[in-house]
Amino acid sequence: MSIPISTTPLPRKGKIIQDDWKKEQYIATVTAFNKKGKKFGYIYMFKNTDDVQKLISQLNKHIFVASFLILFSILIFIFFLSKALTKPLITMKEATKKLSKGDFSVTLPKPSNDELGELSHSIQTLANDLNYLKQERNEFLASISHELRTPLTYINGYADIARRKNLDEQDRVQYLDIIQEESQRVSSLLKELFNLAKLDQNTFSINKEKVNLSNFFRSIYERVLPAFKNKGIDLVLDCPNNIFIDIDPIRFEQVLINLLDNSLKYSNETSTTFIKGSELNGVVQITIKDQGIGIPPADLPHIFDRLYRVDKSRSRATGGFGLGLAIVNQLVEAHGGEITVKSQVGEGTCFTIIIKQ
Ligand code: ADP
Repeated sequence: MSIPISTTPLPRKGKIIQDDWKKEQYIATVTAFNKKGKKFGYIYMFKNTDDVQKLISQLNKHIFVASFLILFSILIFIFFLSKALTKPLITMKEATKKLSKGDFSVTLPKPSNDELGELSHSIQTLANDLNYLKQERNEFLASISHELRTPLTYINGYADIARRKNLDEQDRVQYLDIIQEESQRVSSLLKELFNLAKLDQNTFSINKEKVNLSNFFRSIYERVLPAFKNKGIDLVLDCPNNIFIDIDPIRFEQVLINLLDNSLKYSNETSTTFIKGSELNGVVQITIKDQGIGIPPADLPHIFDRLYRVDKSRSRATGGFGLGLAIVNQLVEAHGGEITVKSQVGEGTCFTIIIKQ
């Protein structure tokens, strides 16, 4: 018996009729078919689920392996990424720990071009600066103790001799004079160190006022002229009358007196020292130039350092501690200015101060 089937295409609504075909051995679908426009019957189709189950389980396996591999790769990636991100942070943390304990010998790896790199660079700069300050402080303390030890040794030695009973009265007076000289030296060293400490702590105030540079120079010139004349050195002043400068006259006087005092100490007779003032585009330039012994090129970069002297042996004769220029430098900086030096051995030295108005 043949079943007449409509030639018009039937709607292919092959619905699966099981609730959960995955648990069944077959997939059963049903499709209605019509004959002459009327619903005539249903076609049931069965398909063994083995192949489909196999395919699904294979696909599941693949998906599982792929997911596992993806997850594993992500974890590895996150691990290395976090390592890469946290490693410099951990190194920096350890570096700052070392710094806080006073160990400034910190070396951080070459910084990258990002924020972490900038932070690392800042920590390295801080460590270098602190290290430099520590070394400078140690050298400074060593120099001070050396400076103090020498006069104290003299004082001790001569006090022992002066105490001897059988000593000539004239000799005793001479030894007592040396003791007095050396104790004055110690006290003036301490005074200068105290001044420098005050400058360092910024516990001094700069009381600026408008000063006529020419008049200011003149008053200093007249004060130091006798000492220059006494040594046979000419002192020449050259400054126009119309220059006004914003300075603390008392502090700035100390600057000029220190520089002129050096010119006097380190120049020979029949030489000339010049004091010059000029102004260009609101910048005042002051120069103190001498024709003295000059400073060797190797010493020039250090002469503003504390307790630095070119000729250590000469200092006892000239009485300097190597603090004068350090004080000058601090005072000029406190005025917002800058001091530079040019010198040639046997020709002379020229200090230039520049102050913007
Ligand atoms: P000091 O008290 O020893 O003069 P300073 O700090 O004033 O200390 O100077 C430091 C060193 O610089 C001096 O010891 C000296 O060797 C050198 N110096 C400074 N000024 C001059 C100068 N005008 N001519 C030659 N040497 C100078």
